[in-house]
Amino acid sequence: PRDDLDLALTQSRRDFASIGHHPGRAYLDSAATAQRPAQVLDAERAFVERDYAAVHRGASEAVGAATEAFETARHKVAGFVGAAADEIVWTENATDAINVVALGLSDASTIAVDSALALRPGDEILVTEAEHHANLLPWQKLAARTGAVLRWAPVGPDGTWSIDGLRDAASDRTRLIAFAHVSNVTGLIAPVADVAELARSLGAMTLLDACQSVPHLPVDLGALGVDFAAFSGHKMLGPTGIGALYGRAELLNALPPARTGGSTITTVTMTDAEFLPAPQRFEAGTQPVSQAVGLGAAVDYLDGWGMDRIHAHETELAGLLTEAVAGIPGVRLIGPPPGAPRAAIVSVDVEGVHAHDVGQFLDSRGVSVRVGHHCAQPLHRALGISASTRASAYLYTTPGEVDRFGAALAEVRAFFGADR
Ligand code: PMP
Repeated sequence: PRDDLDLALTQSRRDFASIGHHPGRAYLDSAATAQRPAQVLDAERAFVERDYAAVHRGASEAVGAATEAFETARHKVAGFVGAAADEIVWTENATDAINVVALGLSDASTIAVDSALALRPGDEILVTEAEHHANLLPWQKLAARTGAVLRWAPVGPDGTWSIDGLRDAASDRTRLIAFAHVSNVTGLIAPVADVAELARSLGAMTLLDACQSVPHLPVDLGALGVDFAAFSGHKMLGPTGIGALYGRAELLNALPPARTGGSTITTVTMTDAEFLPAPQRFEAGTQPVSQAVGLGAAVDYLDGWGMDRIHAHETELAGLLTEAVAGIPGVRLIGPPPGAPRAAIVSVDVEGVHAHDVGQFLDSRGVSVRVGHHCAQPLHRALGISASTRASAYLYTTPGEVDRFGAALAEVRAFFGADR
């Protein structure tokens, strides 16, 4: 272990009962979903036991208490990412948040065609070849609906893209640039400010897939200058079933609500409806109230440690992970080379062994990783592989767990006879 690793953070393992239930298991799959501390589970339970009710409708004391808890959570999450509370829309998860924007832009183009947000045939949507399917398929559909053209920055042999590649793929028809802050496969940290500046110079909007950044590093969306951002509660120690869409207030209020229904309106007639300002215009139906409270508690927990501290810890773990992989013959590291900045997400291709076999072998050694295409098929295709093996860390990950991963990975090729 390195001297500079913040071992106090790994002491927080005591807060995560799930880790205690599996003492022989190194959980290296936090990029898929994070474990949840007692503080989050307790907050959700205490709220449900004491203050649970449907929010925003009705005049009872019960509704008032529940609404206050629900909106307090929104303020916490907003503050956590440098946003105002009315710039945070609750969604199901990040995938849903991206779809709210894509479907809203589709409505702006096909129903409210005079909208400033309307996309016209020949307009361009720009992404990268490394995107998670959640930040690709909604844009494919939006392009098909509007006649817009999808363009992308290609990835190089290591799976990373560059701002120059993005610039080359951009044009004066670019209306939207959608990209991940941190890649869930390569661990690449995107130059967000440069992309935001490129977008501004083109008069294009930006959408940041912040799924793998908001849980792990300090993120100030206002300062980064992006227009929209999406993230999920379950990747940041919070519950499943809740995520957030961030949008600049002016844009959110111009975006048509694609899903409509109760809670979103001011006035309804038999033929028409007027919608509330954001965020309510997007939150149709009964809201994920206890999930929001749980996510608020997750933000308190993360703030308690401090995101600078968590990021520093994970940067050290990222170094240990890449070092563990780098020296193993026949194991190819995907993403930035050892020593380059990256998140604590490390994917590898093991020569001669399918990722599923690698994953099973690691599992037999008590190391839980993720195998497959990680919802990034185009990226894997560009790398000439169909699947990879991914280890990812969080605040509770210990250097010993990384060592176990490295030691088991070093044995894989011999075990399957692929070293001969
Ligand atoms: N984008 C990225 C970069 C991700 O890692 C993930 C989750 N794997 C998503 C989007 C989708 O998140 P969710 O499934 O919570 O909607």
